[in-house]
Amino acid sequence: MSTDKTLTPRLVKKLWLALIVLIVVIGASYIFITGYFDNKHSEATIQKINASLANHLIEEKFQDSSPFLVDGSVNKALFGDLMHDMMAVNRSIEVYLTDKSGHILYSVVLDHSADSDVKSVSTTPIKEFIATKGEKYILGDNPRNPDERKIFSAAPYNIEGKEGYIYIILAGQELQQVSDTLIGRYYSNLGIGASLLAILFAGIIGFISIWFLTKNLRLMTGTVRRFQEGDLEARIENPKNSDIEVFANTFNEMADTIVGNLDKMKSVDQLRRELIANVSHDLRTPLAILKGYIETMQMKKDSLTDLEKQEYLQITYDNADKLSKLINQLFEYSKLEAEQITPVKEPFSITELSHDLIAKFNVLAQQKEIDLHLNNAQENCMVFADIGLVERALQNLLENALKYTPPKGEVVLSIKQNNDQVEINIRDTGTGIPLSEQPFIFDRYKQVDSSIKKQGHGLGLAIVKKIMDLHDTTITVLSKPKEGSSFIFKLPAYHV
Ligand code: ADP
Repeated sequence: MSTDKTLTPRLVKKLWLALIVLIVVIGASYIFITGYFDNKHSEATIQKINASLANHLIEEKFQDSSPFLVDGSVNKALFGDLMHDMMAVNRSIEVYLTDKSGHILYSVVLDHSADSDVKSVSTTPIKEFIATKGEKYILGDNPRNPDERKIFSAAPYNIEGKEGYIYIILAGQELQQVSDTLIGRYYSNLGIGASLLAILFAGIIGFISIWFLTKNLRLMTGTVRRFQEGDLEARIENPKNSDIEVFANTFNEMADTIVGNLDKMKSVDQLRRELIANVSHDLRTPLAILKGYIETMQMKKDSLTDLEKQEYLQITYDNADKLSKLINQLFEYSKLEAEQITPVKEPFSITELSHDLIAKFNVLAQQKEIDLHLNNAQENCMVFADIGLVERALQNLLENALKYTPPKGEVVLSIKQNNDQVEINIRDTGTGIPLSEQPFIFDRYKQVDSSIKKQGHGLGLAIVKKIMDLHDTTITVLSKPKEGSSFIFKLPAYHV
């Protein structure tokens, strides 16, 4: 699998290296510690087994024969014979005869070549050895090497008033040499054996543990790759259980953001396409009418009556006006949609603005025999908003109210202040909006429903909604067919 091949080979190499170093260090320490304690253990064993050797020598060997001290001097012949007998059995021992203060009177060793000029040994370990009856592991001076301490056996003697010690080095020079040769072989065997075993176990354990350690990483790399290859649903499962939770969570969040942004871009793109399709349809209709009437006037210019000419000109004017309005709206809407407009908020009197607008629309209202007036005008309500944008929104709403209200109807603009908010309501007694259409009137161009699309002529309410968005507020519609509609929105009040 490609995922496995590309999985951070450097990391795997580092893990292997760390494992090998660990095994070598642990292995070497183990061999060293084992060797040290093994040596101590065998020394302690030899000392314990031979604890009574010196005592035995005095009790058994010299009891019935002539004493080894004659007139205060060592009976070398006797002593030497006996010692050599013993050493024939155990070549590792070295026997010393000392006086009370530890001065060496006589020694029997196999090889005198390694002798040093040490003439005495410390009696402290000797006394301790005798006091504990050899039960304790004690090291004494090595007469042949002052820097070394050795296991020994010792026993006191008292012959004709002369006191001293029989001091026997148990692991003598001979034993040391043999042991040194053997230990070298032992260590090399142990080293080879341990290394082979370590390599075998390190291989098995290393493989398994590295596999487990990198399992999550492999899964994560696989998920990231799947995402890269286009599977936008790919997410790291159970990030909490992952070894690298932060990475897993960050990746998942990043993937969500990317998918979210893609969706947003798609929907904006979709909206643009729909807008272009619908608007071009809406532009084509008045253009076709314009063209039709102009052509007719050109063809029949001599046969048309003045009244007909007047009527045709009015129709062409109305359609040109519709076109210009639509183009203006489109321009305005695209600027709002592209977020090119930033509201410049300031305190202003919504009551005054409404008065001006009512005055402006009153001519049209009178033409259509509609009663247009302002409610609650006695209060002067101040709001904090972008005056130009609010004026545009109110214009669109009043235009619609007058457009969809039949003669003898009523259009009322009410302003009501509730603490920190000012509620503005544009109510008419017009045609009303069917319930099914109400959810779509603010963003008609987003809708794919062709029945709704066909009715669209302008972007008036879509612009109103964008203006509300820029003021972080919403607009609601309450409408009943044949009874009328109310468009209500709130703006933040400004307290002087
Ligand atoms: P239009 O140019 O078509 O009026 P708008 O965006 O201003 O575009 O309005 C969208 C639609 O909402 C209208 O086509 C109409 O069906 C409905 N509408 C808006 N205002 C009113 C109203 N006051 N009374 C009845 N219907 C309305």
